Amino acid sequence: MSRFWTDKIASLDPYVPGEQPQDKKYIKLNTNESPYSPSPKAIAAMQEMVGSDLRLYPDPNCTSLKKALATSYGLESNQVFVGNGSDEVLALAFMGYFSNGKPLAFADITYSFYKVYAQLYNIVPNIVPLTDSFDIDVNDYKDLDVSGVVVTNPNAPTGKALSLDKIKSVLQSNPDVVVLVDEAYVDFGADSAVSLVNQYPNLLVVQTLSKSRALAGIRVGYALGHKDLIDGLERLKNSFNSYPIDRIALAGATAAVEDAEYLREISDKTIATRLWAARELKALGFEVLGSSTNFVFVTHPEKQAESIYLALKEQGILVRYFGNKPRIGEYMRITIGTDEEMNALIEVLKALI
Ligand SMILES: *Cc1c(COP(=O)(O)O)cnc(C)c1O
Repeated sequence: MSRFWTDKIASLDPYVPGEQPQDKKYIKLNTNESPYSPSPKAIAAMQEMVGSDLRLYPDPNCTSLKKALATSYGLESNQVFVGNGSDEVLALAFMGYFSNGKPLAFADITYSFYKVYAQLYNIVPNIVPLTDSFDIDVNDYKDLDVSGVVVTNPNAPTGKALSLDKIKSVLQSNPDVVVLVDEAYVDFGADSAVSLVNQYPNLLVVQTLSKSRALAGIRVGYALGHKDLIDGLERLKNSFNSYPIDRIALAGATAAVEDAEYLREISDKTIATRLWAARELKALGFEVLGSSTNFVFVTHPEKQAESIYLALKEQGILVRYFGNKPRIGEYMRITIGTDEEMNALIEVLKALI
């Protein structure tokens, strides 16, 4: 607390990221990072950039990256917006599209940053509870009086995916406001709403290079949507920071997006590991929700989540535990690591349970 703080600063309740402890080397299964290296082509492009013109500002329009993304998704470059991580893209979208006085609809159990942005921009949340099985019921998104809707697909931390038909239903029920679909994990097995962008001018799809493309360290995310929605985000961005993507990140991200084959290869590996790890966890008595992501959301009917989380931490394995959060306090979210890492997890759990 400082006497210089405005009421605004004092009122905030900032997002708390997963632990990134520096005290010893952990098997990190707590922040949904990829266990694999980024595309070798992305690494080479970044190395080359380090040796070149870093005295110059980067391209403020991120032309090469927008072109690569547009090509990869069958869109035009003016349907692509790029930001410093999808967190920044989300922050700008919230600021631009959801602050017109009406509340913003999103689920009770979802990415916890949404309510932080809502608070930052004085947007009142219209919380729509998931069903008892942690599913989104699209009927709950009809007849809302809101400034917008955010759907996370697949959802986090549950890992559950919605079909495209259900996404369409949400879009059709809310034609006069922006429906933002956060697809941070879509490459791990859900259907992307990108195919609907040319049909629905109110659709904004947000994705990231942090998860499936193994580039959380360079902070690049993007939005895909109607060119007028994208133009709105550009206006905001250029009223705040014209250069959120540095030259190294731009070079690496462009090469990573162009390397679709590598994305498929490491995503498929993660999916295969998820399938056997889920089986092993079930064999140990865990309930494992059906996941279309690079994590599993689990609970054990006999063991307290907190005690498992703490015992794992002591053994050098970090998972995400949701402590005092309503409805999910007995759950853990476990990122899918390499086969070896998941083996190590299963062995420790066997001893524990
Ligand atoms: C990880 C994550 C993000 C943020 O990704 P960055 O691009 O690293 O900022 C956004 N939404 C969801 C649901 C996520 O899990």
